[in-house]
Amino acid sequence: MNLNTAMIPDDRLMPAQAAAVRALIAVAGADRVATDVPLSALGRWRIGGPADIVVTPADAAALGRVLAVIEDLELPRVIIGDGSNLLFDDAGFRGVIVRIGRALGEFELREDGIVDAGAGLWVPTFVRRVIDAGLSGAVHAIGIPGTLGGLVTMNGGSQRRGIGENVVHVDAFDRHGQAHRLDHEALAYSYRASRLQHGDLVVTSVRLRFSPGDRQAMHREARSILRARREKFPKVRANCGSVFVSDPKLYDLIGPPGMAIERAGLKGKAIGGAQLSPDHANFIVNNGGARAQDVLALIRIARDRVAELSGIRMDAEVRHLAPDGTMRPAHQVADHIHVAQYQGT
Ligand SMILES: Cc1cc2nc3c(=O)[nH]c(=O)nc-3n(C[C@H](O)[C@H](O)[C@H](O)COP(=O)(O)OP(=O)(O)OC[C@H]3O[C@@H](n4cnc5c(N)ncnc54)[C@H](O)[C@@H]3O)c2cc1C
Repeated sequence: MNLNTAMIPDDRLMPAQAAAVRALIAVAGADRVATDVPLSALGRWRIGGPADIVVTPADAAALGRVLAVIEDLELPRVIIGDGSNLLFDDAGFRGVIVRIGRALGEFELREDGIVDAGAGLWVPTFVRRVIDAGLSGAVHAIGIPGTLGGLVTMNGGSQRRGIGENVVHVDAFDRHGQAHRLDHEALAYSYRASRLQHGDLVVTSVRLRFSPGDRQAMHREARSILRARREKFPKVRANCGSVFVSDPKLYDLIGPPGMAIERAGLKGKAIGGAQLSPDHANFIVNNGGARAQDVLALIRIARDRVAELSGIRMDAEVRHLAPDGTMRPAHQVADHIHVAQYQGT
C-alpha cells in the first residue's frame, strides 16, 4: 500500500489487534493492510501520531467486506481520502483507518450531462475529465487536492461554490457494508457541510449533473484559477488549505477569515512548528515538527481574537480526529486548549 510501513509481527501485537489484522487481511489482502502507521504520512499537514491499523481496499466490493469485519469486531473506524482537510492528533488513533484510494477512481460519461465517478478519483483529474467532456460547473474545484469522496462530503469548492450543487446522488456503504443510495435532498448540503460528515456512511461513487460548456473557455478559466491560487496560497510548506469557513456576517463586516485574522494582528504568528501563514493568514503551515497541539492553539487564538474584534466566532472547516475516533470541526477541540502559555509568543 506504499506507506513504507512494515507490518508489526503477530507476536508483538495485542491478541485482539492481531485477530483484527488477520481478519482484515483475509478480506482485503496482505498488501492492503498496515499496522502502526504514522498519520503524519497520510495527512497534508504532515502531523499526527501512529494509527493502529490502516486498510486501503482494492475496490468497492473489498471495501464492503472490510466495513463488515470492522463492525463485527466492534473496532473504532474512520474513513479518509487524501487527508487534505484533516488534523490528526499527536497521540494518533486507536482503531482502523479506511483509506479510499485511487482504485475507486472510475469515470463514466452518460447522456444529458450526467457523470458517474468513483469516490477515490483525484479532484483535479475529475475536473479535467468533466471539462474534456464539454461540461461546465466543476471548474471552480480544479485546484482542490483531495478525493471526490472527500469533496462531496465537505461540499468543497471555491469562489463560494460547492460541488453539492451538482450532486444527483451518492452510492455509499453503511457500517455493516450494506449499499445505500442517497439523493441530493438526503445529503442536506449547506456551505462546506453535508449529512455525510456524520461519518456513518462511506461514499463509493457519485452521480453528478452538469450543463454544456465551451471546452476551450473552461480550460482557460482552469489555468487562470490555478495561476491565481499559486500566487495567493503558501508554497512549499505543508498545510491543509483554508482553516476557517467564511462567514457571511464576518465577510460583510471585515472580509474573509484571512483578512479578519490579519486585522487581528495575527498573520505570521507561530506556535511551535505551526504558523498562521505570512502568505495567507487563513492557512496554517507546518514549518517543520509542528504538533496538532500547536495548530489547535493557533486556531483558538485566532478564533478568540477575531471574536473580540467582530463579535463573530469563526468555525473551522478542518476536522480533527481524536485518538478514540471522534471526528469534529477543529475549533470544537481548540476551544478546550489552554492558551495562557502561548500569550505573548
Ligand atoms: C492546499 C490546499 C488547498 C485547498 N483548497 C480548498 C478549496 O479551495 N476549497 C475546498 O473546499 N477545500 C480545499 N481544501 C481542503 C480539501 O482539499 C477538501 O476539503 C477535499 O475535498 C478533501 O478531500 P480528501 O479526500 O482529502 O478528504 P479528507 O481530508 O481525507 O477527509 C475529509 C472528510 O471527508 C470524509 N471522507 C473522505 N472521503 C470519504 C468517503 N469516501 N466517504 C465518506 N466520507 C469521506 C472524512 O471522513 C472527513 O470527514 C484544500 C486543501 C489543501 C491542502
